[in-house]
Amino acid sequence: MTDSLKNRRFDTLAVRVGHHRTPEGEQSEPIFPTSSYVFESAAQAAARFSGEAPGNIYSRFTNPTVRVFQERLAALEGGESCVATASGMSAILATCLGLLQQGDALVSSKAVFGSTVMLFDNYIAKFGVDVHYVDGPRTEDWAAVIEQVRPRLVFLETPSNPLTQVYDIHAIADLCHAAGALLVVDNCFCTPALQRPLMLGADIVVHSATKYIDGQGRCIGGAVVGDAERVGKDVFGVLRTAGPSMSPFNAWVFTKGLETLSLRMAAHSRNALQIARWLETQAKVARVHYPGLPSHPQHELAARQQTDFGGIVAFELKGGRPAAWRLIDAVRIFSITANLGDAKSTITHPATTTHGRLSPEQRAQAGIGDGLVRIAVGLEDPLDLVEDLEQALAGV
Ligand SMILES: *Cc1c(COP(=O)(O)O)cnc(C)c1O
Repeated sequence: MTDSLKNRRFDTLAVRVGHHRTPEGEQSEPIFPTSSYVFESAAQAAARFSGEAPGNIYSRFTNPTVRVFQERLAALEGGESCVATASGMSAILATCLGLLQQGDALVSSKAVFGSTVMLFDNYIAKFGVDVHYVDGPRTEDWAAVIEQVRPRLVFLETPSNPLTQVYDIHAIADLCHAAGALLVVDNCFCTPALQRPLMLGADIVVHSATKYIDGQGRCIGGAVVGDAERVGKDVFGVLRTAGPSMSPFNAWVFTKGLETLSLRMAAHSRNALQIARWLETQAKVARVHYPGLPSHPQHELAARQQTDFGGIVAFELKGGRPAAWRLIDAVRIFSITANLGDAKSTITHPATTTHGRLSPEQRAQAGIGDGLVRIAVGLEDPLDLVEDLEQALAGV
């Protein structure tokens, strides 16, 4: 980071960090669509390849546009290093490949993104890593499993999807460190605008930049943030060698997304709270899950470790699956899609989509009822969103 940005505040960093202006004097960050770079001499090429001299080599692992995004996100999360990846899933994959080896144990929250569970169970386990799950946010349950299996990595998402359970990052990080484990937090739902896991004691943050960092549903990408050793060397080494790299164009979109991130997250949170409060007053709604509501079981923890409550709201309709489907089919503004983090509000039925591959018993255990509906509240006028839900609910 340049000296003029040292000790600046979040919104200044979000707009300014990482752009090293070229001799063209451009105001906006340029895009460098080049696969390779030209060296001044054979000696310079040799020095760059050996790592003696810094500089660009090949865009699988060095690209100036990708570097702007990496520097900016690292500054916002408060990490030393950031490695950008082709997707959120490849960020998790690169973290596992870089930091785990055969014989290690991995402990994960059960309530993580569906593809994350598939990655751990079907691929990471195949290479001799023991995978264990913890059910729910109770810190005692985490203590018991961490104590018992002595993992190398511990993985969680908070708030969880779709029930918005909130996990105590500080307490779980302490448990990890006492057992010699590293804590990895998927910070996709909050983004650093609302929650900074590294400041709470986590070792590594992973992101699906596809969601709120983009914010307008355009590009797939991800990132890993942490210290210079684990992320800057171990995870970067995976990217350099195996190549699930972020394209310069996508990096540019995400960099511009970071500039408006805190404004957008504040608006998503404000709109979601308004809708969650309204849903709580509805007779056909049995329960609303939103960390910003005092009725949420971890409301106080969320208020302590987050600066706001985010855009994801889940609610249980009394009529089960028929009611949920009727509501979803009747909305006129919300898009029926499982994606989230978009300016456009989305609505989904977890039991038959994102969590459809679980057995009915597994779903019941996870608290995902047939009447559960998840909305990712966008940036439309919240009064229009309430009106839309109101007319749809009338037909249920
Ligand atoms: C979407 C998502 C991912 C995966 O990210 P992709 O960019 O789709 O690969 C991981 N974690 C969470 C919490 C997500 O929502």
